[in-house]
Amino acid sequence: MKSYRKELTFNTPTRRAYINITPYVEQALKESGIKEGLLLCNAMNITASVFINDDESGLHRDFERWLEKLAPEKPYEQYAHNGFEDNADAHLKRQLMGREAVVAVTDGKLDFGTWEQIFYGEYDGKRTKRVLVKIIGE
Ligand code: ZN
Repeated sequence: MKSYRKELTFNTPTRRAYINITPYVEQALKESGIKEGLLLCNAMNITASVFINDDESGLHRDFERWLEKLAPEKPYEQYAHNGFEDNADAHLKRQLMGREAVVAVTDGKLDFGTWEQIFYGEYDGKRTKRVLVKIIGE
């Protein structure tokens, strides 16, 4: 069995952002040389997500509105976590959108369902954060 590990880094200019990282993940898969196996992709920070969904801008605005309803950024004082920090909402948003995505690798390609793409979800940006890609197989 082969394994391959790669870290991607992101630093968004805004507090919240959704980035389609599928091309970076596909590049990692290509570098690995693995044709059959499993690919794990996870955020390495507790205020960011990796998730799979549709690359459609209206849907991304819906994510933003939905997350702001469930875990609004402000007022900061509404959260027990916010003392030295102001990112309690970002922890909660990450919990809703998830930590990782796992995709089957078949014939050297990501074995996606219809319209599936991999996204990095940032909820407390303007700093460098890492995403792990780990691939096992042969
Ligand atoms: Zn925090």
